[in-house]
Parts: sequence; structure tokens; C-alpha cells
Amino acid sequence: MISRHSLLGCSHYYSCKSHFSARSSLEFKDISSRSSSPGEQKYSFGPVMMDDEGRKKKKKRGQSPEKATSLQAEMEDIEDLFGEKEVEKIRESLLMWYDKNQRELPWRERSDCDEEEGAKRAYGVWVSEVMLQQTRVQTVIDYYNRWMKKWPTIYHLAKASLEEVNEMWAGLGYYRRARFLLEGAKMIVGGADGFPNTVSTLRKVPGIGNYTAGAIASIAFKEVVPVVDGNVIRVLARLKAISANPKDSLTIKNFWKLAAQLVDTSRPGDFNQSLMELGATVCTPLNPSCTSCPVSDQCRAFSMSKNDNSILVTDYPIKVLKARQRHDISATCVVEILGGKEVSDGNHTDSVFLLVKRPDEGLLAGLWEFPSIMLEEVDLSTRREATDCFLKKSFNLDPQKNCSIVKREDVGEFVHIFSHIRLKVYVELLVLCLKGEMDKWFEKQDKGTMTWKCVDSNTLSGMGLTSGVRKVYTMVQKFKHKESATNSIPTRKRTNSKKLRCS
Ligand code: SF4
Repeated sequence: MISRHSLLGCSHYYSCKSHFSARSSLEFKDISSRSSSPGEQKYSFGPVMMDDEGRKKKKKRGQSPEKATSLQAEMEDIEDLFGEKEVEKIRESLLMWYDKNQRELPWRERSDCDEEEGAKRAYGVWVSEVMLQQTRVQTVIDYYNRWMKKWPTIYHLAKASLEEVNEMWAGLGYYRRARFLLEGAKMIVGGADGFPNTVSTLRKVPGIGNYTAGAIASIAFKEVVPVVDGNVIRVLARLKAISANPKDSLTIKNFWKLAAQLVDTSRPGDFNQSLMELGATVCTPLNPSCTSCPVSDQCRAFSMSKNDNSILVTDYPIKVLKARQRHDISATCVVEILGGKEVSDGNHTDSVFLLVKRPDEGLLAGLWEFPSIMLEEVDLSTRREATDCFLKKSFNLDPQKNCSIVKREDVGEFVHIFSHIRLKVYVELLVLCLKGEMDKWFEKQDKGTMTWKCVDSNTLSGMGLTSGVRKVYTMVQKFKHKESATNSIPTRKRTNSKKLRCS
């Protein structure tokens, strides 16, 4: 029976006979960092549903582009850039709209942008942009404020441990990005040149791709560079009615060229934010507010939709089918080890939970989780057999020898979605009582193969756990509460209800 030790997207396999080996990461790549070979296929324009002739024509047109060496030369090579007047109008309208309508967000606080203020703002922009790649603005505000309270400057962050950073990040997902923030902070603080203030120098910092570099350089240091994220792609695809695959590397490259053409030379940071803000609040994926859009006069998709009922602005950018998700199965065992102090109704005040630390490299690096294994079969006996094997081999927990099973219950199951994995998690509660003292059992363990620890419920509740691990623990707590409520019902009542059900 082959099983893979893991919880919630683990990057390691486990088998009872062999231990760990690497597996591919699940994290998203920064779209801005995708490479492309210049000029083999240009993006096309027009309605999404094109006839064969139109499609062939456009394909042919894009097959033999001229190579360009500089950005300007490449931009001239694009057949449908914005016109000069269009650029002026879009800049003016968007900045005016942004000045009136921008949301007040903690990372948008203004500064005089002298050298020190620029670096301070750069740090805030960096943290917020990385967080915003994970989740919605409303969720990020809380995380950002807590982060800045704990590490107000890059110098504070550089002194943090990976465990602290992971705990602060818990719930945001994509923990690799948090690790890069820490590594980047250490690199910048350890260097002699201060905070990098151009896209080219920022790109040398771990985890900073073209998008984050553009955001920091333009917002904090006023470098005239574009940014392209999902919001910008949507706005540009609609402004120009671009029907090419928005995930295609060359199409993305062309979005960068269009964004570079638009970026305002005197207020690059504000302009980039206005474009992103428009995508987030007005030019939304499903319900764009075209009638109140500041650039509706320049929007080709809007103009086309007014002239042809079969065209919707939401046809742009085109929807690309997602890669099929892999389906994985995990058996997670919440192992509670009872201490000696029993209070009442069999409750123990000093019970502890077994936690395993994930490897320092790979997905969810350095985070704590309940013992888990990946399986190919879901039946209860297979899950229990694999779990027993894992506990025996890794922690010397063997009911035949050194412990007894007080309780073993299936608590339930849930599905956790990763970028391209649908993980079904079966959760089990296993309450054990050691034969002998806990300290002696702990001392006897082989600490070489993995890092693990036992913590009480108070400590566990206060830890920064991933959302998947937190979900498991909540399920177990609810199960225990429900069980103790059932047990506290007076016997006569329970007998009555039983009789009622039977009659
Ligand atoms: S007019 Fe509509 S589709 Fe065009 S940019 Fe504005 S909100 Fe988006």
C-alpha cells in the first residue's frame, strides 16, 4: 500500500517502507515573470466569435513579425497601439477619476518621497502587493495592519524568524511568498545599497517579479514603468477588444506594452493604481459599470457592444478553460495523548496534541500540521492501517506495546481546493493513553527524520495554523462538544428518546 505523508497540499510522499521525496509545487507563478520569445504571434482584435476567414487572416498576420530590440521598437511593431490623443485622454480621465474615487487603504498613505520616505513606502507597497496577490482587499487590510504593527520597517522584518512570518501569514495561503518577503528583507538589509528603487534592481530580490517590481518602483520611487495584473489585463482587453488568449505569454507581453504606453510620466504610481482600481471597482469581471466609467469613450468593447447586441463587454478578455484539477485524498489523524490528571467525566486537563513540522523547503514550508498521509483508497480500514503504520514508524506509538486506544472516531471529511488540486481530507480523532510517563516516551523518540512536538489545546488555539489545519481542528472540537453534550443528557431522557424513536 503506497501512501503519501501530507496534509492539505503537502509536497511529499510517504510510504510505510520509504520516507520522503520531493513533489511538484502547487503555487501560482507570477504571470508577469513568464518568458516569451518575441514576435511569433500577435494578439488579435474583434469579437470573440470570429469566422474562419477572419481567424486565418489574423493568424497569418501574426506569424511573421519583425523583431525589435528596444521596448519602443517593439511597441511600434504592435499593429494597434493607442493613438497619442487616446493616451492623453485616458491618462487625464483616469487620474481625475482616481483622485476623486480612490479607496482609502492603509498602504496608500502619502509621503514626501525623499529617500527615507520612499524606502518606507516601498516596504509597505511590497508587503501589501504580495498580500493582495493572495486574497481580497478587505481581508488584506487586517493582515497588513497586524503585519505593520509587528514589523513596521524592513529592518524589523529582517530580524524575524520564518516561523513567526508563517504564523502571521496563516490563512493567506501561498506561504512561499511570505518566505520570499523574509528572504528579500534580509537581503536588502544585509546589502549596502538600501532599498532597490528601480525595476531592474528590484527584480534581483527573491520573490519580486515584474508586477511587484513595477508597483514598488512606480508608486514609491516614481519610476515611469507599467504594472500588469489581472485587473489591468481585463481593462486593457476591453479597451482594445483583445480576443487573444490572455494567459498566453506573448499576449501578456503585449499587455505590458500597452500598459507601458499608457503610464503617465508625471504620476506613474497614481496612474498604475488608477488602472488597477478601475478594474477592481468599475470594470469588474461580471458586472462592469460602463455608463459610469471614466474611459468609456475610449473603450472599443463598449462601443462594439452598443452597435451589436450579440457582443458583450464581458466577452473580453476571453475565458480560457482551466487545467483539469488533480484529485487527491488525505487521511488526517488528530492524535490526542492523555496525561495523568483526570478531572471529571473522563476529561483530562493535561492532554496534548501531536503536531508535525513540514520540511523547510517546498509548499507550506516550516508550518505545523496534524499527522497526515496521502492515500489512493478511501475506505476506513485502509486509512486506519496507513495511519497506524505512520504513527508506529514515526513516533513509536504502538497500541500493541506502549499505549492504549481510549477513543477512535471518524470525525468527518471536507474538500480543500488548491490551485490545481482538489484535496479530499478524511479526519479522524485518535485519543491515546501512554503506558508509562509521557516524558520518557518523548525522550525515546528518534528526532532525526522529522520535527514534531506535542502542545496543549491552549497553545494550539493560539498558533498561526493554515486554514486547512484550522478546519481540521475546528471539526474535532465541534465533534467533542457534540459528544460531551450528548453524554451529559440524563439517562432517563436518553432512554425516553430512544423509546420514542423505536415506537
Ligand atoms: S467602458 Fe466598460 S468595459 Fe470599457 S473599460 Fe469602462 S467599465 Fe470596462
